[in-house]
Amino acid sequence: MQQDAAPKVSFVSLGCPKALVDSERIITRLRAEGYELARKHDGADLVIVNTCGFLDSAKKESLDAIGEALAENGKVIVTGCMGAEPEQIEAAHPGVLSISGPQQYETVLEAVHRALPPVHNPHLDLVPPQGIKLTPRHYAYLKISEGCNNRCTFCIIPKLRGDLVSRPANDVLREAERLVGAGVKELLVISQDTSAYGVDLKYATSLWKDREVRARFLDIARELGELGAWVRLQYVYPYPRVDDVISLMAEGKVLPYLDIPFQHASPEVLKAMKRPAAQEKTLERIRRWRDECPDLTLRSTFIVGFPGETESDFAYLLDWLEEAEIDRVGCFKYEPVAGAASNAFANPVPDEVKQERYNALMARQQRISARRLKRKVGTRQQVIIDEVGPTVTKGRSKADAPEIDGVVYLASRRPVRVGEIVTAKIERADEYDLHGTVAGF
Ligand code: SF4
Repeated sequence: MQQDAAPKVSFVSLGCPKALVDSERIITRLRAEGYELARKHDGADLVIVNTCGFLDSAKKESLDAIGEALAENGKVIVTGCMGAEPEQIEAAHPGVLSISGPQQYETVLEAVHRALPPVHNPHLDLVPPQGIKLTPRHYAYLKISEGCNNRCTFCIIPKLRGDLVSRPANDVLREAERLVGAGVKELLVISQDTSAYGVDLKYATSLWKDREVRARFLDIARELGELGAWVRLQYVYPYPRVDDVISLMAEGKVLPYLDIPFQHASPEVLKAMKRPAAQEKTLERIRRWRDECPDLTLRSTFIVGFPGETESDFAYLLDWLEEAEIDRVGCFKYEPVAGAASNAFANPVPDEVKQERYNALMARQQRISARRLKRKVGTRQQVIIDEVGPTVTKGRSKADAPEIDGVVYLASRRPVRVGEIVTAKIERADEYDLHGTVAGF
């Protein structure tokens, strides 16, 4: 029977949801060819490490993961963002079998075939119709484009991933429909710059069902909204075209949730960062969005301590946050990334000042978030169930993206299932999470 044993691959996926989508694609292909996933490196025939190269700390994490895989297994294939600059990997770990950049699925598969030829076994070649997903079955990331046309001065993603390349609308919709057909209840739409979707295709149409659909942010959001799943839009920039999507949110077609990485509010810092749509009057726009769609939840990330950020720039950011009432915030202390233009900027901010600003921003945000969440006490919210344990049931409302936002802790008299969407009565709120009871199914 030994010759029938399926070759086993251990997989490490580092980095952002976009990298996770790449990992899912590679794993889907491997499973389709009869490979199995191993839980541990030492029980596997080889290891694939999908790396992240965004920040120096992420590169270090990637190099550590490769080192660990080499020590525990010995056969290691490296792919992902850091693979776009192979010299550092080669220098640290000359023993790896192959190095490839992001989306180079074929290179990864060729390297696997060389090191560990597939065993043909029709019983192992089956792959579920939705592909193998690393995320739980009830939600899935849907990548609509690759690369980025912006040139933010702190970022090297365009260097690593190139300019924007959008998928045709019907290709995206086919994948989305397949995912929903396979039980996915929530689609998380991702890309480096979701609102720029289709710019490279000049918004070309493609045939979907009986109609032509434009590769354009509004059109794809509208079509995805017809599939019967929750649709959550992530990594959107505040271009004027975003205004149109707010009406889809008000109509309940897509979730009233926008993840906009503002990164700062001070016009000087935004200019130095070369942020897209920085000149748009965002506070005014946010006010209008909330007038049209009062349930809108805004999530954002900010960088403190960017070179040249003054005390008054930072005070401006805190005031802006207060006024914008951003519901959910992630904050990073500026970190130079090898190859980024901002490394050479004058007036770097000392580490202790970065830390102070980080603490001040997080404290301010905690109060804003608590205030926003308190308003939900006494309301009924739809909640998608993520986890059912012996004592705790956890889910997320429409305002919470998985992994990055808060959760809703639930009590229920009847058993609930993972992936189910229930109605909950919200009874209590703390700084980041809600607590309630299941009130309907
Ligand atoms: S929008 Fe800016 S930060 Fe985001 S990927 Fe593009 S260049 Fe990088």
